[in-house]
Amino acid sequence: MRNYLIAGNWKMNCGPAETQKLLRGIKNSDISIPERVDALVCPPMISLTVAANELQEEAGVALGAQNVHFEDNGAYTGEVSTQMLNEVYCEYVILGHSERREYFGETDQTVNAKVKKSLSDDLLPVICVGESLKQRKAGEHQLIVRKQVEAALTGVSEDQAAGLVIAYEPIWAIGTGETATPDQAQEMHKMIRDVIANLYGNDRAGGIRILYGGSMKPHNAEELLSQPDVDGGLIGGASLQADSFMEIIQIAG
Ligand code: PGA
Repeated sequence: MRNYLIAGNWKMNCGPAETQKLLRGIKNSDISIPERVDALVCPPMISLTVAANELQEEAGVALGAQNVHFEDNGAYTGEVSTQMLNEVYCEYVILGHSERREYFGETDQTVNAKVKKSLSDDLLPVICVGESLKQRKAGEHQLIVRKQVEAALTGVSEDQAAGLVIAYEPIWAIGTGETATPDQAQEMHKMIRDVIANLYGNDRAGGIRILYGGSMKPHNAEELLSQPDVDGGLIGGASLQADSFMEIIQIAG
């Protein structure tokens, strides 16, 4: 049985002061995190230290980053390494988000390099995949997403794959208020699980969490999370308010 994972992708929101405030809101919420739900927050890099301090005593919420570099260290201006993320107690790292692919030149190859580096340094990647509206309209969504998953996992062994997370995020649903229907989400999640089963076998595939992302909100979370292959959410906008984030966590439970 897979635990749900509800992950907040804060994107470029919340510096250290706001991070502290938002995390205190989460910690002080009337809603407690149900046993079958894992909660994760992914603030900007500059806020990770504050977040780590704030979450120290709070066993229930894990910390993640939104990106990482694939080299150990060196002349990579503006980048952050896996070891640096380890040092501030990050357990997860979001990789290959469509915004990074679109605006920052992230490719299947760089995503793959980052996935392998993260896994070898004790960081669990949340690998984002998803099709554009044009690709969906052309009927290419399954093919595109399959290729993204396979590319991201190239050279990753079955053992290494334990614990990694996939996030299916149709680009047309991100930040638009439009979500995939529960059937569309289930169809894609099942396909992704089949791709993983082809690579690593049914046992491993059955343990890997596949999150849905793209305008997940308290009002639509239940129908999405009730799909058999939807194991949680990667939440953008609704994770920036303690109330809506905690509400989704409660719904997942
Ligand atoms: P959204 O973002 O919930 O604001 O649509 C999701 C994401 O991009 O991870």
